[in-house]
Amino acid sequence: MAKVFFDHISTTPLDSRVFEAMKPYLLEWYGNPSSHIHDQGQAALRAVDKARSEVAALIGAKPGEIVFTSGATESNNLAVLGTAEEAGNGKRHAVVSGIEHFSVMNALIPLRNAGYEVTVLPVDRDGLVDPDAVRSALRGDTALLSVMHANSEIGTIEPVAEIGRIAREAGVPFHVDATASAGHIPLDVREVPADLVTLSSHNFYGPKGTGALFVREGTKVAPRVFGGFQEMGYRAGTENVPGIVAMAAAAAIASKEMGHWADHLGRLGKMLWDGLSGIPLLHFTGHPTKRLPGHVSFWVEHAEGESLLLFLNVKGIMAASGSACSSNLRGQDEEDLVASPVLRAIGVPSDICTGSITFSLGKGNTEEEVRLALDALPRIVERLREMSPTYLDYQKRMSQGG
Ligand code: PMP
Repeated sequence: MAKVFFDHISTTPLDSRVFEAMKPYLLEWYGNPSSHIHDQGQAALRAVDKARSEVAALIGAKPGEIVFTSGATESNNLAVLGTAEEAGNGKRHAVVSGIEHFSVMNALIPLRNAGYEVTVLPVDRDGLVDPDAVRSALRGDTALLSVMHANSEIGTIEPVAEIGRIAREAGVPFHVDATASAGHIPLDVREVPADLVTLSSHNFYGPKGTGALFVREGTKVAPRVFGGFQEMGYRAGTENVPGIVAMAAAAAIASKEMGHWADHLGRLGKMLWDGLSGIPLLHFTGHPTKRLPGHVSFWVEHAEGESLLLFLNVKGIMAASGSACSSNLRGQDEEDLVASPVLRAIGVPSDICTGSITFSLGKGNTEEEVRLALDALPRIVERLREMSPTYLDYQKRMSQGG
């Protein structure tokens, strides 16, 4: 049976060229960059320096502005908490969009507990943040603004350049979580006035366990991990040299190839979108055009999302419901157990929030695989609806004239 992976937003397969690049740093060059009095340590230090330049090049940054971390969660925590701590002068207000990842949202908990005020910006039905709402929310005591580049769950790409200009005018540090977008669509910090940008290796065909935070020269960020003086003092601990080398190889490949990937994924995404639009009572989520290439998300009336995914998996097609993290979210009330905050933010009724599906395609996917999904899904929806009491009601209402 075919195995079709349509869940690249949760993670991507390792590119074999990336694996080849990291292999010598697992087997042969195992030195510690801080112990560079000898050849082993020097080789490791050189590799990390080169990697810093390559990751910087992906977003138009300077090498000294790249801090390697263990991944996007740590980068987001460092950006939010580290910036808030350095803001000083009674700046105890943070502004975030309502569709940020938990690693931004939950980093605000200790800030709230410490008396910070948090403004959560609403998004429109397509998931877009309104730059005018950002302008109104920023104040003299705002320590940080955080708006993601693209949302994993609904694919919408935010107007971060415009929002960045507003933050710059107001003198507020601006953090962009580019976990879902980096390596897939361009983001150049010479054009987008972001002060902090989160990057994640395993989201662009590198390995898990390595990420980075771009910290613009002059931006003040206090460390969250204490110890030695690695990573210019922003992040202590012996560097994950093979992971860093691999992230850099993945970044170099993405810099060269992302345009080609986006063309391919744009075509497959359109094919999938057009094919799915024939399914009655199916609703796409996210912006129809300002979205990640190859990302198609939707919910279907009278067909529960988790069941759809299980049936798709039986057919060998792997996709996600909501975000990978919210499917096992343990919230504080009953509703949090089922509803995705992103879907609630765009106005999807909370009883069907579990019903959303995200197909996120990758560079290795083919038209044949899209055809398989388009063949399987309508039948699965039909089968689930045959078992759905709400669908029977709906049909009855329709047959009685609406
Ligand atoms: N930010 C966004 C937008 C995400 O989708 C995710 C999850 N993939 C993260 C941050 C956290 O990533 P990780 O779990 O790899 O640290």
